[in-house]
Amino acid sequence: MAQVYDYAYFDGKIGPFREANLSIGSSAVLYGLSVYTVFYVVPDDGRYRVFRLDKHYDRLHASAKIIGLEWPEKLDDDTFRSVMSDLIAANKPTKDVFVRVTLHADGLVPGTRARGVHTQLSAFVYAAEPIVKRDGVRLKTSQWRRVPDISIPSRAKVNGAYVNSVLARQDALDAGYDDCIFLDQAGHVCELSAANIFMVRGGVLVTPDTSSDLLEGINRRAILELAREQGVSVEERTVDLTELYIADEVFVCGTSAFVASVSEIDGRVVGNGKRGPLTQKLTDLHAYELRSADTLL
Ligand code: PMP
Repeated sequence: MAQVYDYAYFDGKIGPFREANLSIGSSAVLYGLSVYTVFYVVPDDGRYRVFRLDKHYDRLHASAKIIGLEWPEKLDDDTFRSVMSDLIAANKPTKDVFVRVTLHADGLVPGTRARGVHTQLSAFVYAAEPIVKRDGVRLKTSQWRRVPDISIPSRAKVNGAYVNSVLARQDALDAGYDDCIFLDQAGHVCELSAANIFMVRGGVLVTPDTSSDLLEGINRRAILELAREQGVSVEERTVDLTELYIADEVFVCGTSAFVASVSEIDGRVVGNGKRGPLTQKLTDLHAYELRSADTLL
């Protein structure tokens, strides 16, 4: 794993990362019963810029609500923000970092249930190493299907559901690819193991809609907004795998993936195999947004 910084938030306070541990008898460990988010932080002249922290708070809260986890009583958005600010200040990163924030069901062996189980928030800081290379990502369609909304909703960022991502990405890595493409039960495109996917066809920017068993990515939304601001036609709709094969450009995005161009899918070269012009433009605009994010901690 990337370098982890010394201080974590756990048990209501900031303390050494190595002492921030969950019990082997907690539901978080036994059932993967936790929800999480990861946000990006850029040092800026003694302070820290964070991209869309409010959206991360909202999504974490929504994930907990979907799963039925108890939301800590005092954890409103202001408290969340000040905890994150204190955590980052304690670690004093001088380079870009990610912060991983998790709400764990840390109650001991209560059986398979969510409500009434004690929860607590943890957060730690680690070096912002991208999960895929920025250019020329090679993707393989997975034989493992995305967990559907009626099984474990992908809209909720649930730790246990990431076994689905691990299965599919490991399979892609074993086959020599960089990441997987998930299809839903009907064979339509969802997303990658931990990033959303876009294609450009005939000048139109297309991405699977939010009913396509995917995580509603904060960067996905940002890319759609940036494209619209540029006057690009945008479609959120059902996407067939074979449309990706014949797209002019394909790229992926996410907090830990940034924006990365795709050069190959299932042995087929995407477009001319190089980063396309719209991908380049949106990559630049997105990078600018990250560096000039208006949340300053
Ligand atoms: N899909 C999945 C399954 C993810 O884990 C992530 C990473 N959080 C994304 C998409 C991208 O979401 P975001 O842009 O909010 O990081």
